[in-house]
Formats: sequence, C-alpha cells, structure tokens
Amino acid sequence: MLQECRVCPRHCSVNRLAGESGKCQVTKQVVVSSYGPHFGEEAPLVGTHGSGTIFFTHCNLRCVFCQNYSISQLGEGSPVDREELARMMLSLQAKGCHNINLVSPTHVVPYILDALELAVGMGLYLPLVYNTGGYDSMETLELLDGIVDIYMPDMKYSDEKNAEQLSGIKDYPSINKAAIKEMHRQVGDLQIDKQGVAQRGLLVRHLVLPNQLAGTQEVVRFLAQEVSANTYLNIMAQYRPCHKAFDIPQLARPVNKQEFYEAIDLAHQQGLNRLDRYQFPLVRFVLG
Ligand code: SF4
Repeated sequence: MLQECRVCPRHCSVNRLAGESGKCQVTKQVVVSSYGPHFGEEAPLVGTHGSGTIFFTHCNLRCVFCQNYSISQLGEGSPVDREELARMMLSLQAKGCHNINLVSPTHVVPYILDALELAVGMGLYLPLVYNTGGYDSMETLELLDGIVDIYMPDMKYSDEKNAEQLSGIKDYPSINKAAIKEMHRQVGDLQIDKQGVAQRGLLVRHLVLPNQLAGTQEVVRFLAQEVSANTYLNIMAQYRPCHKAFDIPQLARPVNKQEFYEAIDLAHQQGLNRLDRYQFPLVRFVLG
C-alpha cells in the first residue's frame, strides 16, 4: 500500500517507502507532535484517568479552518520509530489511561500496526481508539478489523461543494458515509461499562459550522436511518475561525447559540438521544 500509496482515499500513488510524499506530506517517517493523558475528550473516553492520546503530525485533509494547522499542515512534531511509538503506548497505559487514542491516524496506519505488534508483545492491553477526520478507505479499514476497539470519526460535511471548498476533497461525504457504515459493522454501537468508560463501538463527532456549512440535517438523518438510532454522537459547539477561515466570509465568525441548539434539535428529531453531555458546560462557557 505504501509503494504506490493508497493508504487513504486520495490514492496519491507515490512511493512512500522510497521517500516520496503525497498530499499528507508524510514519507516513511512517522512524526508525533505530542502524547499524554488528555481530559478534554468525550466523557466515556476520559473516565477518571484520562484518554491516552498520541497526536500524529500531518493529515490527509486540508481543512481551511483547522485549529491544529501547525501540526496538521505545517508539520510541527518529532520523528519517531517503531520502538518509540510502542513505548509511548505503554507509558500511557502505565499512567492509568483508559485507552490509547490515536489522533489523526489515517495516513500512518501501516506504521501504527507495526508498532502495535511490538507494544502488544510488551503487554499493551488497552482499548484502541481510532480518532479520525473520517476520510478513510475501505481497504485500510479492513486492515483494522479486529484491532480497533473504538472508532471515533468526524462527520464534517454532507455537501460535496462545501467539502471541496473547505477541505479540498469533493467526495468526502460519500467516502465518509461508507467508512462510518463499515466502522459500525465492525464494532457496533458504543458500549460503556459500569464505571462510565467506553470499551468498544462507534462514537461520531460533528462540529457545527456557521451558516449550516456542516450539513447537520443530512448528517443526523444518515446516522439515525442508515447506521443506528443508538449512535453515540458528540455535536460540538467550539468552532472558532482560525488559519484560512477568515478568508471565507461564511466561516469568519463563531457558531452562535441558536445554530448549536438547532443542531441538537435536529438530532433529537431523528431519534438520536445518545448525545455527549460532557460538552454542555463547555457549550455554556463558549456560547454564553
Ligand atoms: S496516505 Fe498520504 S500519500 Fe497516501 S494516499 Fe493518503 S494523502 Fe496520499
């Protein structure tokens, strides 16, 4: 897959093993920006000891409003080899984290699998969270079947024109929907144990954008009617313009309270009632 890269649906066909890079800018060298227990994720991932995040540098998306663009697009981070990546996972486990949360993993899946083989041999047993922008190929997801415990994809847009303008990928909606169906086929609805900690399943994130650019109505319809009305969904209010978003008038302001609560209502109207409540104090803080 890496020799003529088709690790993600962009299918750049570059030889990453020979040092070439495609849209994601990654060659054969994995780069990590940071790792550690994280307490800002969804409640079932955070539990009491935090989610064990590993933030991978670069991304296969090019979102004009990316809040982490210095990592995703400017390449901030340090190269790591297989052993270092495995040791990061084990150190998060030793700190008591409830899971290993692989953030922006799509473009480095083969390297994650390679490191996992080593880490599992050294005693890694925590659930794995695949925390993705949601532009994932069927072929790569099939490689992850039986390995990933919790899929946490974004559903960023349901409209092709918006996906092309804001992330540079016209076919995001169709690829994203197919990926989410496959993720749900593999792991089912989110299962949470008696301590409130997620063990397995699908958790979807949807960031509300100003002026309905995220296409919330179709996103919640799809989840309720084509995936499962029991889908665990985090509707997020924290959009703030940054990076190149100021160049696009419709994106150049935060989401307002009305837009956010309309998105919540749309989800309820579709029968989606497993909405992440952890964010609601944050919503009050952000939106007033
Ligand atoms: S992983 Fe990177 S190089 Fe490979 S197809 Fe995707 S964007 Fe292109």
